[in-house]
Amino acid sequence: MGDTIFGKIIRREIPADIVYEDDEIIGFRDVNPQAPVHVLFIPRKPIATLNDATADDATLLGKLLLACAGYAKREGFAEQGYRTVINCNEHGGQTVYHIHVHLLAGRSLHWPPG
Ligand code: 5GP
Repeated sequence: MGDTIFGKIIRREIPADIVYEDDEIIGFRDVNPQAPVHVLFIPRKPIATLNDATADDATLLGKLLLACAGYAKREGFAEQGYRTVINCNEHGGQTVYHIHVHLLAGRSLHWPPG
């Protein structure tokens, strides 16, 4: 699995509205938001899908989720609530093959998703 549009965002080759950044993770606003808040959290490491993560990535995956929760707390919508989603492969709705967590908030979200 080669480079993706998210690799270009990490390397600053294309613009993105980056709202979070540390040594291992970047968070940026989704270009096609599905809720008033729609941020994607990605590792700098180019893991294609959740299936491609290994035990060595366990801490990194945990940090991705904690980055989402930290952002929600700082932005003040943690108590009201939010959703985190990882789509995997075709039937999961994945379109960009660089693992990412969707953070959705700012409206009441339906369940089950479509
Ligand atoms: P997936 O369908 O793979 O779970 O999610 C990919 C997400 O990436 C989609 O919600 C889509 O709107 C977003 N996306 C695709 N290309 C770009 C881009 O160039 N910039 C940003 N900020 N988001 C993108």
